[in-house]
Amino acid sequence: MASQPLTTHVPDIRVRPSNQRPADPKARFVVYWMTAFRRTASNFALEHAVAWARQLRKPLLIVETLSCDQRWASDRHHAFVLDGMADNAAACRRADIRYYPYVERQPGEQIDLLVALGSQACAIIADDFPIESVSAGVRRVAGRVNVRLEEVDSNGLMPLRAADRVFPTASAFRRFLQRTLPDYLPEMPKPNPLARVGLPRAGGLPREITRRWPPAASRLLAADPTALAGLPITHTIGRVAIRGGTLSARKTLRQFLKHKLAGYAGNRNHPDLDGTSGLSPFLHFGHISVHEVSRELAKAEGWSPPAVADTTTGRREGWWGMSESAEGFLDELVTWREVGLNRCAHAEDCDRYDSLPDWAKATLAEHAADRREYVYALGQFEHGRTHDRLWNAAQAQLVCEGRMHNYLRMLWGKKILQWSADPREALAVMIELNNKYALDGQDPNSYSGIFWVLGRYDRPWGPQRPIFGKIRYMSSRNTARKLKLTEYLERYASEEGREQ
Ligand SMILES: Cc1cc2nc3c(=O)[nH]c(=O)nc-3n(C[C@H](O)[C@H](O)[C@H](O)COP(=O)(O)OP(=O)(O)OC[C@H]3O[C@@H](n4cnc5c(N)ncnc54)[C@H](O)[C@@H]3O)c2cc1C
Repeated sequence: MASQPLTTHVPDIRVRPSNQRPADPKARFVVYWMTAFRRTASNFALEHAVAWARQLRKPLLIVETLSCDQRWASDRHHAFVLDGMADNAAACRRADIRYYPYVERQPGEQIDLLVALGSQACAIIADDFPIESVSAGVRRVAGRVNVRLEEVDSNGLMPLRAADRVFPTASAFRRFLQRTLPDYLPEMPKPNPLARVGLPRAGGLPREITRRWPPAASRLLAADPTALAGLPITHTIGRVAIRGGTLSARKTLRQFLKHKLAGYAGNRNHPDLDGTSGLSPFLHFGHISVHEVSRELAKAEGWSPPAVADTTTGRREGWWGMSESAEGFLDELVTWREVGLNRCAHAEDCDRYDSLPDWAKATLAEHAADRREYVYALGQFEHGRTHDRLWNAAQAQLVCEGRMHNYLRMLWGKKILQWSADPREALAVMIELNNKYALDGQDPNSYSGIFWVLGRYDRPWGPQRPIFGKIRYMSSRNTARKLKLTEYLERYASEEGREQ
């Protein structure tokens, strides 16, 4: 450690050392390695790195990396991240902080780059994101550098380590939040941790580093298709219309607050009304923080923290003391988003079938051999070749736009369960299609949503049905009857397939 304890406003509970090495106050710079909280605003990890740099009076070097070493890496996800890198490059230029964007050309390069930088770093600060593809990289670097590496949690309003267990239902987690969150709400990250930091500027990096790991060129930062074509990632899944990055995230948030928030409670389930925020890809890649979203929401509602009700009932209504729509939105943004973060942080099996509740596994096993009227293989699902027009439409939206309306996402999953050879295969199909095509895929929420289809966070339902047993059932016919989706079908459905 440095001789003096670090002066930082980042709560201790959000910081954990990833190795037992000391910081080196004589080295050249402090490195912030950005892999999940891809933003320069409201980011505890960046704030912590700034605190280290200020204390040691050293420059800060922000290294944002984009790995190709992931099963579902594609032009779609890469372009979205690159949009964000361009925004971060501009923000760092304005703050006069050195920013190094690195896009892997071969798997594992980012690890070697960080190890090389580690030999010149006073300390490395990394993002603590509970998804294995990110956390495994941090562990690898932590084990290979001779300098202190700390991970910082800037995921949710609730620090990941405020709980020491997983929760079986959203209402159990909500009760826990209602008891505990008031203590953490005042601990907000600085909106702009790079403002007036007064740090010395990092000089150029040594040639042996810039030659071996050259920073992303401007064509790549512009997500130019010819530049993307040279990377070892999937090129058949192309970029979509939504632009990534903090600027686009903020615009999306402003439009939501201005035009959609008031009607959120009534409109969110109707695909034709497109009444939700559309923030999930930005939250997934960290282009915007839950802190910023909730702060702007509170402003729009004229709300301040003491207004939170003193309740531990687990009921969502009346908790925050905001409008019905704002409370509904917060329940998704905080309760549902963070119950998934909690599970991925505290249980290594969050993406495995065996992690389902016992009642769900038992009932699915009992009905695994039930006769199925339709059985589709992955390729048929993927190309939207089922008999069901609504299902095919939802899948078409996912493939073309990288998103799917939330209500239809639930139906989509339930039908994959119904039309797969067995529940384990259904799980594999859902994970593959969701993570391959959805911009917000490979997130703790992905596993919350997919496992919810199979009973996680839910309860047994009656009457028992074939294939589903006691798992909650959904039908396309009822969905079509209840929801406004005429325009949706016109837009995404082909004439093939009939409604079920
Ligand atoms: C089968 C299935 C798969 C899913 N896969 C993903 C995924 O890969 N990534 C993902 O972020 N969400 C996933 N969800 C949850 C949900 O569908 C999306 O978060 C939501 O549709 C995103 O749209 P929005 O940002 O407009 O949501 P809004 O309604 O505006 O909600 C605001 C935020 O709250 C969170 N949220 C909303 N609904 C949920 C929910 N049901 N569970 C957890 N958090 C929620 C998201 O972060 C969202 O951005 C999945 C749900 C199902 C049923």
